Amino acid sequence: MNPQRIVILGGGTAGWMAANLLAHRWREHPIHITVVESPDIGIIGVGEGSTPSLKRFFADLNIPESDWMERCKATYKVNIEFAGWSPNSQNASYSHPFISQLDTFSERPFQVNCYTRRLGLDVETTPEKFLFNGWLAKHNKHPIAPDHFPFNVEYGYHFDSGLLGQFLADHAQQLGVEHKQRTIEHVQQHPDDSIAALVCDNGEVIPADLFFDCTGFRSVLLQQTLGVKFNTFKDNLYNDAAVVFPTAVDQNQPVETQATALSNGWAWRIPLTHRTGNGYVFSQDFISADHAETEFRAHLGLLDSDIEARHLQMNVGQVSQHWYKNCVGLGLSQGFIEPLEATALHLVQTSVERFIEEYEAGHFSNKRQDNYNNIINENFERVRDYIVAHYKLNTRDDSEYWRANRNNEHISKPLLELLDVWFRRGDLTQHLKENGHASHFSATSWHCLLSGYGAYPPLSVNQPGTGDLYSDNQLDAFFKGCLMNFKSSRV
Ligand SMILES: Cc1cc2nc3c(=O)[nH]c(=O)nc-3n(C[C@H](O)[C@H](O)[C@H](O)COP(=O)(O)OP(=O)(O)OC[C@H]3O[C@@H](n4cnc5c(N)ncnc54)[C@H](O)[C@@H]3O)c2cc1C
Repeated sequence: MNPQRIVILGGGTAGWMAANLLAHRWREHPIHITVVESPDIGIIGVGEGSTPSLKRFFADLNIPESDWMERCKATYKVNIEFAGWSPNSQNASYSHPFISQLDTFSERPFQVNCYTRRLGLDVETTPEKFLFNGWLAKHNKHPIAPDHFPFNVEYGYHFDSGLLGQFLADHAQQLGVEHKQRTIEHVQQHPDDSIAALVCDNGEVIPADLFFDCTGFRSVLLQQTLGVKFNTFKDNLYNDAAVVFPTAVDQNQPVETQATALSNGWAWRIPLTHRTGNGYVFSQDFISADHAETEFRAHLGLLDSDIEARHLQMNVGQVSQHWYKNCVGLGLSQGFIEPLEATALHLVQTSVERFIEEYEAGHFSNKRQDNYNNIINENFERVRDYIVAHYKLNTRDDSEYWRANRNNEHISKPLLELLDVWFRRGDLTQHLKENGHASHFSATSWHCLLSGYGAYPPLSVNQPGTGDLYSDNQLDAFFKGCLMNFKSSRV
């Protein structure tokens, strides 16, 4: 039986993304959706970078870029550049480009070259040279191909999260979603503990059949009311705080996020059309918030500026059950893995899409709840492993923080096995395929990470032949030719 009434508690990006996806998907059903958001408790107001899944999100909702990008001060994102994470590698930085259709020609040569290099031969293994988005990023070009260009180019976005939330709120209301500005003070439960209704600070009671908890780190319904356990990732991921500053617009309008390692964490730099977003993510076990702010001000050249910093706390981990009774957690209320690969909104989107699939397959009942929980749990864990690898493989020696990360032994079994295959010169692509661990990050992404870190043995003394598929396949000429079809992003 269909639920008649759905309540989404929380009007941050997670709440409004869910409202849009559910209202669009179930537009033919007699379902009433209400978003309840507190006028007094703000949204977190960070989260300005996406993966390519956000492109699909807007496409699924039939929202063209011209409708939302300018309003949300958005720019294109094709790449993340990691600077200073592995001083032992040949390059001061490396890239993790989003993988596009035309990389079909170069992904295998890249993976084979990485294997050849692991055998000690001197071949090209720089990730951004093998993947087209690496070329776009280096040459500051928009990823919008002319009509005659025969390949799809993948990309994500940077955006002002507050403006994106407002845009999504307006759009959801056009789809018929009701919006109530109320703070919830109590929750009424049925005898079996499932949620019956939300009680507002003005006494209004809002009943529903199905609830989505989008209340951010508070997790009012899932954790506070239903007592679902939160499993911390603190043993694997040390960062638990961030300090944030806006700076002036970058006239070059890079099409990438920069992630620069600092003394006790890393800093993001995100170009928007009206400002640049900056944040330092760090661990309070190793540096105080005050010292982190001072270090970050110096890094940004803001030591003499009176611009105010925003300090944020982060809860890193995930709930033990993302869907429990008649309540589904989404966004920060279901968990968070720190923003290094900007995966949080991607996970919100995946969660809603999978929920719709499982809920429909179970004829709008809880029948497939366990299946859903296993899938989302696995997604969180595999994203976590990819992020953990950035810390585990670092070769910095400038602080206890980086040494502790390198020496950390709380590493999941799948990650240990994966690293073992790489360092034993096994076939990593095959390993990921067999174990299904490429579910979130592909084999090519893992090669970008491991190769970008220079996780290789020393070169052999003997170098028989070249065997370099980069030059053999003339990939340089191929990408340079493709690049001529794309326009500069500079303003
Ligand atoms: C430092 C940092 C950097 C990040 N960077 C990225 C990034 O680059 N990319 C990315 O994808 N994600 C990023 N994220 C994550 C991203 O910010 C969040 O996933 C996203 O903003 C969604 O937040 P939310 O909607 O879950 O919660 P929030 O934005 O916190 O919204 C919570 C909502 O719940 C409401 N609420 C709470 N309690 C009550 C109550 N009692 N009654 C009524 N309403 C209530 C509030 O009013 C609010 O509307 C980052 C997060 C952090 C901490």
